[in-house]
Amino acid sequence: MKQPFRFSRDYKQEDTVISVKDIKIGGEFFVLAAGPCAIENQEQYYDTAKLVKEAGANVIRGSVYKPRTSPYSFQGLGTEGLKLVRDLGEDLAIVVETEVMDTRDVQVTAEHVDIIRIGARNMQNFSLLKEVSKVDNPIILKRGMNATVDEWLNAAEYLMQHGNESIILCERGIRTFETTNRNTLDLTLIPYLKSKTHLPIIVDPSHATGRRELITPASKAAIAVGADGLLIEVHNCPEKALCDGKQSLTPDGFQTLCAEIFPYLDQEKRILSGWQDGA
Ligand code: PEP
Ligand code: MN
Repeated sequence: MKQPFRFSRDYKQEDTVISVKDIKIGGEFFVLAAGPCAIENQEQYYDTAKLVKEAGANVIRGSVYKPRTSPYSFQGLGTEGLKLVRDLGEDLAIVVETEVMDTRDVQVTAEHVDIIRIGARNMQNFSLLKEVSKVDNPIILKRGMNATVDEWLNAAEYLMQHGNESIILCERGIRTFETTNRNTLDLTLIPYLKSKTHLPIIVDPSHATGRRELITPASKAAIAVGADGLLIEVHNCPEKALCDGKQSLTPDGFQTLCAEIFPYLDQEKRILSGWQDGA
């Protein structure tokens, strides 16, 4: 008989719960990842991270390898920046994540960060997926901007082929005919995917909308449909950001977002409650 795919509910019925440092992700455990789009320098990264941690984030996001549309835009600090990520994770005792884009950077990235992220543009970079499948770190796999669910889940299977079950799917909006917002956030997929896969599914309302003012409503909607977490861009001074300033919350804005969503989460364990109970 054909073996079911590892991502599927036929392979494993219960929700996957990922343990990393002192947090859990998936099942009843909600993850709130926040931080700058790109790590620009130590001050910007630390300032932003401290503020979002204080507000309630339990993972710090931030990229050192940036996939930019223009070759003349800021490309990120590169491998040099990984030390900053590791130091911040230790100094603030918090889980850190970053994106990897190149097969040659996978091992060194895995050694410096807790969670590795594969960006939308690389969701079907099969050489990269195969290389990342060799590491044990939890992996955030973003949905490609024109990927079907089937393609996305197959990409997850690439990452799981050697036994790593710590995969977090991240819906970040897809390209459609509609150009009002940066992308079209495909929220109905969350409950659908939950029936197909045991993997946690989070939502990135920043890249999905491209607009700061839409992040909070999109986050609430994501929680309402059962997302296991959020990935949000925050900058200590968005008007000076080298990347994605328009879709980055200020630290104050992030605090307001937290105040609006926390009533629906158990504060200590971050167990989802409220919306699901019909509150
Ligand atoms: C990011 O999260 O930093 C990013 C580049 O997003 P995406 O891969 O979804 O475009
Ligand atoms: Mn960004």
